[in-house]
Amino acid sequence: MGAHDRGHVERVARLARYIAQREGADLEVVTVAAKLHDMARDGPDHARRGAEIARGVLRSQGYEEEFIERVAHCIEAHSFSGGVEPRTLEARVLSDADKLDAMGAIGVARAFLYSGKVGRSLEDTLRHFEEKLLGLYDLLYTEAARELGHERHKFLVEFYQRLREELFSDPGDIN
Ligand code: FE
Repeated sequence: MGAHDRGHVERVARLARYIAQREGADLEVVTVAAKLHDMARDGPDHARRGAEIARGVLRSQGYEEEFIERVAHCIEAHSFSGGVEPRTLEARVLSDADKLDAMGAIGVARAFLYSGKVGRSLEDTLRHFEEKLLGLYDLLYTEAARELGHERHKFLVEFYQRLREELFSDPGDIN
């Protein structure tokens, strides 16, 4: 809970639907994929396993195989670390929406919620900014997401610089 809770899934679904409409992606595929995208979040290889779980859920609900595969591909390709390239517009839309929710003030808040949960220090959280969060803007695929991401990225950079300054600048002794 915290960084990948219900709130995250709902925000990603909202962002994904907006981007899908701007980019002309299939709204139903994107919406279903967003709602199901993090079901395997707590564990290794969450994107691939999440796609597997989603297939089972959608089959049990009677969706057609072609639709199910389009959704499953979005989920298996949405993750930063999953190593699967999105082949469809819908998959690029979900990837973008998920990344946007790790940027801006929400991104900062989620990073520290996660740090609190696992006991990660401020210094290690700064490293997470360097290794992941500050690079997210360059991973956005669609024009609509880059528009939304511009201010969020700027805020991440400002916050990162400010935190680093306060952590590592030594005001020094007065004589
Ligand atoms: Fe997610």
